[in-house]
Amino acid sequence: MTLPTPKPGVLAINAYVPGESELPGGVKPIKLSSNETPLGPSPKARAAYIAAAEGMERYPDGAATALRNAIGKAYGLDPGRIVCGAGSDELLNLICHVYVGPGDEAIYTEHGFLVYKIAILAAGGTPVVAPEKDLHTDVDAILARVTPKTKVVFVANPNNPTGTYIPMSEVRRLRAGLPEHVVLVLDGAYAEYVRRNDYEAGIEMVATTPNTVMARTFSKIYGLAALRLGWCYGPQPIIDALNRIRGPFNVNSAAIAAGVAAVEDVEHSQKALAHNDKWLAWCVEEVSKLGLKVTPTVGNFLLMHFADGSAKTAAGADAFLKTRGVILRRVTGYGFPNALRMTVGTEEENRVTLKALADYMGKA
Ligand SMILES: *Cc1c(COP(=O)(O)O)cnc(C)c1O
Repeated sequence: MTLPTPKPGVLAINAYVPGESELPGGVKPIKLSSNETPLGPSPKARAAYIAAAEGMERYPDGAATALRNAIGKAYGLDPGRIVCGAGSDELLNLICHVYVGPGDEAIYTEHGFLVYKIAILAAGGTPVVAPEKDLHTDVDAILARVTPKTKVVFVANPNNPTGTYIPMSEVRRLRAGLPEHVVLVLDGAYAEYVRRNDYEAGIEMVATTPNTVMARTFSKIYGLAALRLGWCYGPQPIIDALNRIRGPFNVNSAAIAAGVAAVEDVEHSQKALAHNDKWLAWCVEEVSKLGLKVTPTVGNFLLMHFADGSAKTAAGADAFLKTRGVILRRVTGYGFPNALRMTVGTEEENRVTLKALADYMGKA
C-alpha cells in the first residue's frame, strides 16, 4: 500500500510561525508582535466593511475592479497592471507557482521574510540564501548566487525583521546585474513608512523593465491585516500569468470595499505615518538608552539586540515582558536568537513596554 505523499519540497517547509497574540489567563495583551498599526484602520474602511455585509450571498467582483482603480488613482498606476490578492502572501506564492518549479532556484536574503522560503519550497523550487552585509541586503552577494537556474529574486525593502533598506541606486544595480529571465520581486510592505530621499518602492522600475514586480499590502499602514488584502504591480505578461492561476474570487467583497475606503483616506494614512515618525524615534532612543543595540530602522518596528554573554537575554526579556502583558516578537527563525522585534504601538503601549524593558534590564 502506498499512502499519499506530498510532492518534494513540501515536507521541507517549516510552517510560518505568526507573532504571538495571547497570554495565559485571558489577559488582554499589548500586542507589538506583528507590525500592525496602533491606530487601526480608517473609520471609513470599517464602515465600508460593515456595509458590505449586505450582499454576502453574491460572489465578489473577481477582478476587484473598484479596488484596482482606487489603487491606480492613489499611486498613479495603470489598474490593468495590478493584481489583488488575499494578502501579499498569496501573491508571493503565486509568483513562485508561475515562475519556479522543480530544479529551479530562487534567492532571498539571509534575514529575509520567511514567507519567501515557504513559497519557493511549495512551488518545488530550491531556496538560495544570500548573506547580508551588516544586516542590509547585499546586492553583490545576491548577484554572486545567480545561476542559469535562478528564476526569482525576492528583496523586502525595507526588510522585516531588520527594518533596514537599500537605496534605489542599489536596487538598480541589482536589476542591471540580473539576467533578463529573472523576476525581481520588490516587497514594499513597509514602503509607506519610509522617510528617506534615496528610497523608492520601485514603481518606476516596474514601469520601465519587463521583469520587475512590486508587492504591497493593506496589512500594515492601512490596518486591514485581518481582511487579508495585498496587491502587486507588474509588467503586463507577468500580470496576465498571475491572473490565470489565481483563484477567480481570491479577494472577498468586504475586503475590496474596505480597501477602497482605506486607500482613499489619505488623511488617516498621514496620521498613521506622523504617529510612526514620532514614536519610532522615541522607541529607538529609549531602547538604546537601556544598553540594547538597535538596528537602524525605517519601518514601523525595531530590532533590539541583547549582548552576547550577558545574563539579560531576548528569551528572558520576552518571558518577563509577558508577565507585564506585553508581547514582542522572538526572531530566532530569522537568524536572531538573541534579539526581539518590537512594533511601534500607541503612546501608552510604547511607554508600558519601555518601562517593563527597563525593569527587566535593571535600569528602572
Ligand atoms: C507583513 C509583511 C507582508 C504582508 O503580508 P500580508 O500577507 O499582505 O499580510 C509582506 N512582506 C513583508 C516583508 C511583511 O513583513
